[in-house]
Amino acid sequence: MTTKTLFFLPILFIAFGVMSYSVLRLLSYLKLGKPTNRLNNIFQRIGTTFVVAIGQSKILRDKVAGPLHAGIFWGFMILLASVVEAILEGLHHSWSLNFLGPIYSITTILTDVFCALIITATFIALWRRYISKIKRLQVDGEKVEAAMILMTIFTIVSSLLLQNIARIQMPNVTGIANITGQMNGDYSWAFRPIAMSLAPLVSPEIAPMLFEITWWIHVVLVLAFMNYLPFSKHLHVLTSVPNVFLGPLKPTNTLTAIDFEDETIEQYGAKDIEDFTWKTLLDGYTCTHCGRCTSVCPANQTGKVLDPRGIIVAIHDRTMDKAPLLIKQQQGKELTEAEQAIFDKKLIGDYIDPQALWDCTTCGACMQECPVNIEHVPAIVEMRRNLIMMEAEFPQELQPAYSNIENNSTPWAFPQSDRANWTQEMENPVQTAAENPEFDVLFWVGCAGSYDERAKKTTKAFAELMQIAGVNFAILGTEEHCSADPARRSGNEFLANSFVTMNVETMNGYNVSKIVTTCPHCFNTLKNEYPQFGGNYDVQHHTQFIYDLIHTGKLLIDKTTVSSDTLSYHDSCYLGRYNDEYYSPRALLTDVPGLTVLEVPRSKDKGLCCGAGGARMFMEETVGKRVNIERTEELLHNEPTVIAANCPFCMTMVTDGVKAAEKIDSVKIKDISEIMLEHVKR
Ligand code: SF4
Ligand code: SF4
Repeated sequence: MTTKTLFFLPILFIAFGVMSYSVLRLLSYLKLGKPTNRLNNIFQRIGTTFVVAIGQSKILRDKVAGPLHAGIFWGFMILLASVVEAILEGLHHSWSLNFLGPIYSITTILTDVFCALIITATFIALWRRYISKIKRLQVDGEKVEAAMILMTIFTIVSSLLLQNIARIQMPNVTGIANITGQMNGDYSWAFRPIAMSLAPLVSPEIAPMLFEITWWIHVVLVLAFMNYLPFSKHLHVLTSVPNVFLGPLKPTNTLTAIDFEDETIEQYGAKDIEDFTWKTLLDGYTCTHCGRCTSVCPANQTGKVLDPRGIIVAIHDRTMDKAPLLIKQQQGKELTEAEQAIFDKKLIGDYIDPQALWDCTTCGACMQECPVNIEHVPAIVEMRRNLIMMEAEFPQELQPAYSNIENNSTPWAFPQSDRANWTQEMENPVQTAAENPEFDVLFWVGCAGSYDERAKKTTKAFAELMQIAGVNFAILGTEEHCSADPARRSGNEFLANSFVTMNVETMNGYNVSKIVTTCPHCFNTLKNEYPQFGGNYDVQHHTQFIYDLIHTGKLLIDKTTVSSDTLSYHDSCYLGRYNDEYYSPRALLTDVPGLTVLEVPRSKDKGLCCGAGGARMFMEETVGKRVNIERTEELLHNEPTVIAANCPFCMTMVTDGVKAAEKIDSVKIKDISEIMLEHVKR
């Protein structure tokens, strides 16, 4: 054994020993969370991991910082091979990865290139953080740490590059005697173009010494960094790839049902970390603090308390504070007074402002942007569930909505007996399922579509389109009850559960197989959440349904009805972001003769919420700028004559926004079904 190996071995053992201890400690914290199965659909998970984690697809959505971060990530993946090789060299002076042959050539070329890229990227990152001062990167208490990390990365990579330069300048890379006479590696397959071009700058005399110094700097820093990770926000370096693998599968943001028959459940929703699943705790470990979620959050961007990054960081901080104490208690040990004080703190209150939870529109933009697939919305709804079902602490404006759902089966104060009154305003009769049990398609009208004067126009337009196309459809009429989306999203799962169960019973009684609805909120919950309750249906949004009618020739566009309108289209979150449907509404609009369709800056999966989701429709919005005003200003930016919506809630919010902008006389707000009705042959 050489002197170098003699020094290196204990360092290596200590580094891996401490690392193993830290990892086991973190795993023991995760075990405190509730179970959730994240090993289903393995192939889909592997695919997502390759696209999101390895391919960095979400990071690359940001055209400026994306390539920079992706470059650092891919660089580190490649550099892992060099780290392994450096450790091998420390264990035995003749060990290298040269036996990989041509693969070693590729690895060494890429290592060389990535060394240069990472050095450049760290300089740019330092510039963006400390000179340009990009807003989302300015987090109090993180400036020094971030600088240290970037400098450490710089030193690790530049020491590797220097090692490789020195190696080239040493007399014989395959039988070399360096200053300690210990090195004898074979690097015949190595090819390092950048190191080779820089090598003449280093004289062969000092090359062996430079190699040894940079080797030790590189290896010691790598081992130290590895052990620093579990204690820092850079823990995500270890957890990002597993978190993506274990993350949500599409459709995103499907809430889990609670078994209210299970009498062993004492806590509904999440009051503290032990009430979350282990996956939510892993999300806390994985947050990179990049701030992408916060930078797209409609609530945060309009001046509300909510900061989705802050929510995830708070869950992490509370985990680190409370988990060791929970474990100590489980071991039967007494907590000290100081520990008890930490233990008694409240996640919602001391770590998270409850108002932040109520600010959320559940638009899902945070989850869409998060590069490591963190699940903000389910965590927020879990905490809402606790506040509503356990603490009875919620915005009082929700109370009338809940009472109305309980008494009238709708969040508004309309009698259930009036639910189908809109049919009386139709020229041709619309039948209920009871009147026409042989229907092919159930038209789920929804609460807004049944009662709201504006939404009823959409309902009637769509029903008329189906009548023109000869669709054999029926409605449930007074047998339809609130789909329960507002109750569910606001956290009142108990109320939601009873209404979903009731609706499923009714629909299964009619053997419903296909449903179409004009409300994206009903669409989402019927399609993605009703299966949890035994309701398995083929559910379509009306824009998808109309698209099919047109493209199967059942509805024909009247080419003589040429539009002269200029139109801005607003994507609703629950159709677009939640269900990935951006195509059908746009395809319909572009079918309209003469209509000019303009995209607004934030559209499709970057679309901005109207502010009504997550039961925000029923809550006051008194802080900051109203979200609907922010969105409508953007929709008006192109000076359209029409704004098209596909959701009754968006319709209300955008209409209010247009009124506030005093443009209601010059800009019409229409549902896509209304536009299509103006342009189909009758
Ligand atoms: S779901 Fe929307 S409103 Fe809620 S935290 Fe995420 S981005 Fe903000
Ligand atoms: S939750 Fe995701 S998007 Fe938000 S700061 Fe953390 S890593 Fe970035």
